[in-house]
Amino acid sequence: MNKKQKKMLRRILLAAVMVIVLGILPVAGLPRLVLYLLTYLVIGYDILKKAGKGIWNRRVFDENFLMAAATVGAFALAIYTRSGDYTEAIAVMLFYQIGELFQSYAVGKSRRNISALMDIRPDYANIEREGTLEQVDPDEVAVGSVIVVQPGERIPLDGEVVEGCSTLNTSALTGESLPREIQVGETVISGCINMTGVLKIHTTKAFEESTVSKILDLVENASSRKSKSEDFISKFARVYTPAVCYAALALALAPPLVQLLMGAAPAWGTWLYRALTFLVISCPCALVISIPLSFFAGLGGAGKEGVLIKGSNYLETLAHTRYVVFDKTGTLTHGVFEVDAVHHNQMERERLLEYAALAESASSHPISKSLQRAYGREIDRSRVTDIEEIGGNGVTAKVDGIVVAAGNDKLMRRMGIEPIHCHHIGTIIHMAVDGAYAGHIVISDVVKEHAGQAVQELKHVGVKQTVMLTGDDKRVAESVAAALGVDQVYGELLPADKVAKVEELLAHKGGKEKLAFVGDGINDAPVLSRADIGIAMGAMGSDAAIEAADVVLMDDDPLKIVKAIRISRKCIGIVYQNIVFALLVKFTCLVLGAVGMANMWLAIFADVGVMILAILNAIRALFVHKL
Ligand code: ADP
Ligand code: MG
Repeated sequence: MNKKQKKMLRRILLAAVMVIVLGILPVAGLPRLVLYLLTYLVIGYDILKKAGKGIWNRRVFDENFLMAAATVGAFALAIYTRSGDYTEAIAVMLFYQIGELFQSYAVGKSRRNISALMDIRPDYANIEREGTLEQVDPDEVAVGSVIVVQPGERIPLDGEVVEGCSTLNTSALTGESLPREIQVGETVISGCINMTGVLKIHTTKAFEESTVSKILDLVENASSRKSKSEDFISKFARVYTPAVCYAALALALAPPLVQLLMGAAPAWGTWLYRALTFLVISCPCALVISIPLSFFAGLGGAGKEGVLIKGSNYLETLAHTRYVVFDKTGTLTHGVFEVDAVHHNQMERERLLEYAALAESASSHPISKSLQRAYGREIDRSRVTDIEEIGGNGVTAKVDGIVVAAGNDKLMRRMGIEPIHCHHIGTIIHMAVDGAYAGHIVISDVVKEHAGQAVQELKHVGVKQTVMLTGDDKRVAESVAAALGVDQVYGELLPADKVAKVEELLAHKGGKEKLAFVGDGINDAPVLSRADIGIAMGAMGSDAAIEAADVVLMDDDPLKIVKAIRISRKCIGIVYQNIVFALLVKFTCLVLGAVGMANMWLAIFADVGVMILAILNAIRALFVHKL
């Protein structure tokens, strides 16, 4: 509890004690009124002040006004009827404040939970200077510096290991509890915790560009993107609150006036009491508070599982996903190609690989990374000029002044060279050197471990159709799709063709059905933003993907797509439960109140009780790991 909450708790306890003592003390008349009024002010002065401010600012109708009007009215009624029964007014305030305290505690708690799990901001980076380690702000480390990360420390910047080996705990980022082995040459991302060995890391990104900063940014902005349900509730409250106020006024005035007209004695007191009860019951705080809280908890719960959702509107969209479109390389497959064969080479195998690796030296495509790895030696970038990457085709460059092209048969035809057909099933990288065909490299990729299971499980969460789009060879595409059980597959697509295909699918689906695209952002960032919801592989994917996507999967596991949909459905389910439950109880109590069958005590339950139950229900959205 924070200071403010503690102060509130003291006020609640003090007021409760005062009410009990006053109940026992035999005081009557004016002293009794003064003592009760004092108790009332102890517990409710801030609500009165807020209600007054609202009236002053011409924004009259809010919960504070409802509570103030109801309790002041109850007090006035007790004075007018000389009943001396002031406890009800105080009780309404007291329970309302208990509800508010509970709410602020619950919201604070889930906020803290979320920031604890997002507590990945590194405080410092170690730089070695003249044999001693110096701690500096991660912000101040230049790209290309070598930093030292000791066991137990958090990796402050993205980079590549140049010395040492260790295991990393990535759970804060990915929700994955298994430690990851790491060796020289591997890339590491910031935010992970180094567990066993000392690592020297050559940084490849500045702090603002590093993974941690990106993630923190994303999380901090998530709750500002509102869902339709949240919008609906705030609009609803804007209409609803004045409406119930006028209804209460009508309830207080109309029946006695009718009685007066009919010649009977008007029962002003009875109807005023009913109108006041009506006001207390109708307070919309259960909805106003629990719905944003449910979404907030849902986002937090998903984050803890390594699924970062950029806003509650996306949570809502995810729950209605009926079509899932996948990119292949890096999404369903690892995107780590191995060289299987080198065919029809007009030059030595080594030379061909060298040309390929050099031409690919600037690309971040998984294929180029793999070719560079297969080459295995240091790449002298000064030998390469005029690099051009053609999305969905390949690259062309000048190596030692000679024009080299590496890519698929589309690229060869573009250059006016007839490629030799390869009968191998695999991704074929054709090579042209100095205007002549120079052979091809057959590489193949491995399907991700959980890809098949993910495709199957999507069917259990309401997905009607799964589709795979790829720029790779049709035969490769079909064999991967068949192995995974994907419903439809389209191969040999250029990035623009992928957008067109997704648009075609979008045009054919029903209005409420949503389409998700899952990719790694390499050659598919435009599709990520075009789909109803874009899901990116975060650790593997490019920065462009993390920017363009609405949901980021930190550990690149396709099963997390299923999890994200499950989480969103649970969260939306909770929201609907709360809406129905709160409205049902309120409506019943309102009717009972109007016909005189509900007193203030029931009214308090309808308000505070429902709010507390709704909040408890909302918090369930935080616990999603069992889904
Ligand atoms: P996917 O849709 O499977 O992610 P891409 O659209 O990224 O594939 O690439 C499609 C095809 O284009 C690849 O299979 C490859 O033939 C060719 N290609 C793309 N980029 C490169 C590159 N950097 N080097 C060689 N070939 C490439
Ligand atoms: Mg791709």
